[in-house]
Amino acid sequence: MTPQHDRSIVLLLGAPGAGKGTQARFLHHLLAIPHIASGDLLREHRRRGTPLGLAAQAYMERGDLVPDQMVVEVVMERLQRSDAARGALLDGFPRSLAQAQTLDALLAEQQSAVQTALYLDVPTDVLVQRIAGRWLCPSCQATYPSRTSTPPGDGRCVACKDQLYQRHDDRPEVVQQRLDVYLRQTLPVIDHYAARGVLVRIDGSRDIAQVRASLCASLGGVVRGHHHDRWHLYVSNRLRADDATGPWQGRTLCGRRVADRTGHQRGQESDFLEHPCRLCYQELRPRQRPIAELPQPARTNQLPTG
Ligand code: AMP
Repeated sequence: MTPQHDRSIVLLLGAPGAGKGTQARFLHHLLAIPHIASGDLLREHRRRGTPLGLAAQAYMERGDLVPDQMVVEVVMERLQRSDAARGALLDGFPRSLAQAQTLDALLAEQQSAVQTALYLDVPTDVLVQRIAGRWLCPSCQATYPSRTSTPPGDGRCVACKDQLYQRHDDRPEVVQQRLDVYLRQTLPVIDHYAARGVLVRIDGSRDIAQVRASLCASLGGVVRGHHHDRWHLYVSNRLRADDATGPWQGRTLCGRRVADRTGHQRGQESDFLEHPCRLCYQELRPRQRPIAELPQPARTNQLPTG
């Protein structure tokens, strides 16, 4: 087996409705690694009517976890494909301590390991509210919130124009069961990765762009531009959230390369929010609907630049 020291295995952990799917679609583009969601893999098996999909169906409809062995099998099979050779963003997996231990052991056999576990922390009342009003596009999986029982807008995805739908397991009685299961079975996974020193806790109750800013700061950092008093968000090619002291380098959201050897000064997420590079800032904004809550960047006549 080839050693895979440079493989970036990043976990996205959090309760149903925490925003994992929304953030994963942004992050996997940025990191250029595939987004592997165990729920999507299981739904795909169900749609194709495979024996595994049929066996998983009853668990999923009740809001229970599908047995560990079945989920590990589909996720590990997906991780073997060539597009995951550089790494993967795992969404919704592992969801039990047994799955986490199996994943760690199988990755260790390949001289690889979980580099960062990003935990989107959201209070239960916010989760229930979000799930109750969640509509999805069947093609691109984008989510659209609605405050009423009808889909938002004209009921179609802004990008794909497909009819939006609500997931069967997003019904209130199933949601409660999914949240109970999460508290019982998945919280120990968070403790597990915290004990291993790779967990990053992110307040997922804020708006999408602010959560994105925190995720980028965790997977890289904040650096000051050379020519203007503007801060950039960057994502590191080593993805070591805990590695604030070692040498670092990466690419800013506006596309510039950064490295400590070229004298870049590192800052905090708050520095970025006070004086952001406007192009980096623009990259954080969801494309499908306007975000009103985010503080506006300071006005400047100069083009943002490093
Ligand atoms: P999700 O789309 O992540 O909310 O998952 C939908 C359903 O798929 C869950 O309620 C579970 O029944 C099942 N599922 C997804 N991921 C896992 C996992 N890692 N372990 C067990 N069951 C899972």
